[in-house]
Amino acid sequence: MKSRAAVFYGAGQPLEVREIDLDEPRPGDVLVRMAAVGICGTELHSIKGEWERPTPSVLGHEGAGIVEAVGDAVTSVKPGDRVVLSWAPSCGDCADCRRGRPAACVTLHRAIGGGTLVDGTTGMTIDDEMLYRGTATGCMQELVTVTERVALPLGDGVTLEEAALLGCAAMTGVGAVLFAARTEPGEVVLVIGAGGVGQFCVQGARIAGAEAIIVVDPLDARLELACELGATHTTGPDGLKELMKSTFPDGADRALDVVGNPETSALALRFTRSGGTCVIVGIPATGERLDLDFGEFNRREKFLTGTMYGSEDPAVALPLLLDHVREGRLRLRELLGQTYPLDNVNEAFEASLSGSPGRVLVVPGR
Ligand SMILES: [Zn+2]
Ligand SMILES: [Zn+2]
Repeated sequence: MKSRAAVFYGAGQPLEVREIDLDEPRPGDVLVRMAAVGICGTELHSIKGEWERPTPSVLGHEGAGIVEAVGDAVTSVKPGDRVVLSWAPSCGDCADCRRGRPAACVTLHRAIGGGTLVDGTTGMTIDDEMLYRGTATGCMQELVTVTERVALPLGDGVTLEEAALLGCAAMTGVGAVLFAARTEPGEVVLVIGAGGVGQFCVQGARIAGAEAIIVVDPLDARLELACELGATHTTGPDGLKELMKSTFPDGADRALDVVGNPETSALALRFTRSGGTCVIVGIPATGERLDLDFGEFNRREKFLTGTMYGSEDPAVALPLLLDHVREGRLRLRELLGQTYPLDNVNEAFEASLSGSPGRVLVVPGR
C-alpha cells in the first residue's frame, strides 16, 4: 500500500513529502486515514537535533482520523469509525503495563528510542529501505497502520481536529494535574510554561477545583489564553518571585514544570510549598541533569516526581477526557492553532517553533 508522508531526514533539513510503502495490516492492526496531526513539543526536539533518533523517519504521534480497514482479529473498531491515536503501543505484559501505565513500558521506550514499534518492525519503507516511526507512531502521513490497542474510539461530539489534541497534549497536561500531581479542590497550582500542554495543565487544575492557578510564560498571547482557560494569576518569568512573595508566600500546593529544563524544574520545586508536590511534565533535551538543594527534601519535605503521558492508561483516561469535553469543562477549540496541508508541513513546523499560541495542526486529507 502507498501513503504520502512527511519524511524527516535529520535536524536542519526540511521535511520532504514523499510517497512511501506501507505493509498490509496484520490481523491485530488498524489502518487509519489521518485527518489531523498536532505538532507536539517533543517533535521539535527531533527537528532541533536535541534527540538522536534513526532516520529517515515519519514524525507525528498526536493525531485523529477515520478507520479505513482492520485486520481479522480486530474487534474494538470497524471501518468508518472515528479514532484518536494513543502513542503508547506498549507490550501489554511487563510490570508497568500490568500496573496500568503503558506509557512507562520499558519495551515501548526502547522502541521509541529505536524508531520502531515494540516488535522492532516499522511496517513502512521508502526507496526499499526501512522508514522509522517517531514516538512508535509516525502518523504525519495520509494513512498509518497501528495496533488495535492504540486506535481509541472517539464517538461523537468532537471534531477530528479537536480530537487530535486529545492524543498527546490533553492527555499529558490534564493527566499531569489530575493523576500525577493529584490536585485537590481549593489548592494553589503553579504552571510553568503555557504552550499546548501547559494550557491543558491549566484546564486540568480548573477541573480539579483549584482555587488559584498561577501561570508563567514569556509570551503574552499564551498568558491571555491561559486566563480564558482558567488561570487566576499570570506573569512573565521575571515577575514570578515577586508574585509568589506577595500573594502566595507559602508556595503552591502543586507546581508543574511544563518546560522541562533544569532551570524551570528547579524554579517549580522552589515555589512548591513545604510538603507539596512538584511534577516535571516537559521532557528535557538528552543529557540534561538536575542540580537541587537537599533542603527542599529533608527540611521542607517536598515531593518531586515526573509524569509520562498523564500517568494513566490512555484507554482509561480518554473516556474521562471525552466526558469533560462533552460537559464543556475541557475546551479544545481554543487550543487549536493554524492548520496546514501535508504539503506545507515545513511551514507548520516553523509556525510551531515560533511559539504560536495554539496547537499547529497538519491536516493530511486536505
Ligand atoms: Zn506529544
Ligand atoms: Zn510493557
